[in-house]
Order: sequence, then structure tokens, then C-alpha cells
Amino acid sequence: MVTKILPAGNLQAWLDSLVAAYEVYAPVEGDGASTFKKINKGQMPAMDIRTDTPPKGLIFKQVEKILSFEVNPDGITVIPGDENGTKKIVFGIRPCDSRSFTLTDKPFFDPELPENQYMGHRNASALVTTACTSACRTCFCTSIGGAPDEKTGDVWMMDIDGKYLVESLTGKGEELIKANEALFSDASADDEAAAKRIGEEVASSMPKLNIADAKALDGLFNDDAFWQKLTDKCLSCGACTFVCPTCYCFDVRDEGNTRKGERYRGWDSCMFYQYNRAAGGHNPREFHWKRMRQRMLHKFSYFPEKYGDIDCVGCGRCIRSCPVSYDLRDFLEGSLAVTGAAPVGFEKELSDVDEKVRTCEIKPADETVKTGGL
Ligand code: SF4
Ligand code: SF4
Repeated sequence: MVTKILPAGNLQAWLDSLVAAYEVYAPVEGDGASTFKKINKGQMPAMDIRTDTPPKGLIFKQVEKILSFEVNPDGITVIPGDENGTKKIVFGIRPCDSRSFTLTDKPFFDPELPENQYMGHRNASALVTTACTSACRTCFCTSIGGAPDEKTGDVWMMDIDGKYLVESLTGKGEELIKANEALFSDASADDEAAAKRIGEEVASSMPKLNIADAKALDGLFNDDAFWQKLTDKCLSCGACTFVCPTCYCFDVRDEGNTRKGERYRGWDSCMFYQYNRAAGGHNPREFHWKRMRQRMLHKFSYFPEKYGDIDCVGCGRCIRSCPVSYDLRDFLEGSLAVTGAAPVGFEKELSDVDEKVRTCEIKPADETVKTGGL
């Protein structure tokens, strides 16, 4: 693996070289929402923003044909879904979003039930991660095992004052640097020390939440009053799930007829009544608080029990996008209080909440962040 310096003035040349060989997606400001979009030669991405929507859909497509079939005299012909081997680079992805793919890999790369479409997109993609040199008021990656300078993806880079420290983390990442070697120079021990210092400063500016362990949270399942209070104002709109980089609920639909047709996979949301309704009309999660319970326990109890990691990366998007200001940090604090020992402002009203804590505004270094409260 190689560690190099890329002068900021060479970033466009590196991007242009990558654009010539791959589809490159990077953070772009939009009309109303920032997101990841395909960039063209000469286009500089918005390197300093946290996008409103994650790059999830570049690999776990919002709608995707997974197969088509035709009944013929010899049996059934099944044709695999859309082309998924196009080589692409997701450039400028934040460590939390990069980490999110390693989590979604766990169910989709499951050897007993591999999901070929997802695996195809994932294997054909390279992630170039940009470490964070500041934190939003809603960020809490350090509380769930991440870090603003976490080395994840295929290439990791950090802006260290007018130049980037760039490190390849995989063979795929090394190729992206080696093919453009003339743009880079050698990194010094001072450069690496500067990056380490910045990472530590940003991490120390973020609140550290304590989280009840997966088994303790299981014990909350039957505490209906807890879930009802937590979910009091939820509209079941599903916004939190669509902006979440780690949510991966999906629906499968068949189009066509019994002789010939196509099968599509599309994003869905466990917060929707219809998602939970079973054949025959019974709905085991008929109330919004039961669906919230499912979402929270899936992320913080069931997924870690099965795969060993919390299925949340602390990006804070669900907090910023909820129309009624549901704050995931209240669940984390509240559940700890109920299952363990921590005191919590569980009785606070929304009117007490400083709206600033729900924005991606960068927090001044000396300001203590308070979380919301119910
Ligand atoms: S975004 Fe808010 S209101 Fe909508 S489903 Fe999520 S928690 Fe409920
Ligand atoms: S649950 Fe919220 S904070 Fe966690 S990864 Fe999803 S959007 Fe980000």
C-alpha cells in the first residue's frame, strides 16, 4: 500500500484522469438537496459538504431489474438482470458512508443467500474516502465504532491544509494512484502526524453517546410504553429510511404474465404500514411504534447479534431529515436509561430543542452539543 501527497492544485488533473477511465460519482450541490452524481471532465466536486442523500443508490439501486424469464417448450429461460459490471468510482465519500457499504455487504454477500446484482455493483466499484476535517452537529460516528478519519474504502485521503494525504487501502485503490503517479509526491512523517492530529481534534469535538448492548436492547421489546412515547410524533413517512445509508429494506415485484415477465427489486421502508402487511391482510406491526421498534432493534440489536456490528454509522441524516424532529440519539440515550443506568432528558418537549442540533451546520469547537429529547 502507498501513502502519497497530492497538491490541491493537482486534484482536478487526478479526477480528469479517473473520469477518462471510469464512471466517477462525487458530491454535487443540487437544487434543494446535495447528492452524489456522475461528474464530467473539468468538474470539481463539492469536496467540503456532507451530502443530504448518501451514495447508497449507486450500489444498492433504488429500482433494479434482477431477472427476466420466459416459458418456452423446453422449460423456463431465466436471464440475469441489468448490466452491473460497469466500473465506477465513488469519489469523496465520507468515512461513515464508506463504512455503510461494509455493513450492507454482510446480508448481500451472505454465502447462503448471495444477492448477485448488489455484489456485481459492489465488486465493480472503488471507494475513494475523504476524511472529515470538521463534524456536523448531528454526527455521532465515534459512538458506534467509526471515526472522522477512519481508514475505510479503497483509497483514503485527508485535506491537510492545501494538500491531500492520500493512502491506498486495497490493490484496487493502489491502481488509482499508481496510474497517475506523476501527480503525487512522497508523504513525510510530519504529513502523517498532521493528519492524525486533525482526526483526533475532530473526534474530540463530537459528543460521545453510550449505547446499550444488543442483548439489553432485546429486553426492551415488550416495553410498549417506551416505544409509544418514543414514537409519539412519528408520521411513518419513511424519510429516515430513504436517507439512511444502511437501511436496505426492499420489495420485489413481478411485471408481465405467467409466460413472460420481469422481476424488479425496489427500495421499501419498514416504517410503512404496507411493508409489514402479510398475505391475508394481517399486520404484525399495525402501529407506527411497532414499526419504529423494528427499525431501532434491527439496527442496534438484531443486526449486531447476527453480524457483529451495529447497523448505523452515525451520519445523522435521519435526524436532519425527519419532519417532526425524531432524534435517534434520544432512542440511544433513552434505551440506555431504561435498560441500564444513564439519566436522560426523556421528558423534554420538542419546544425545548435547539433547532441547530438538527442541522449539518458545523459546530464551533468550544460548543457543547446537547441532543434533542422527547
Ligand atoms: S422521518 Fe420521522 S416521521 Fe418520518 S418515519 Fe422517520 S421518524 Fe417517523
Ligand atoms: S440510522 Fe440515522 S444516523 Fe444511523 S446510519 Fe441511518 S441515517 Fe445515519
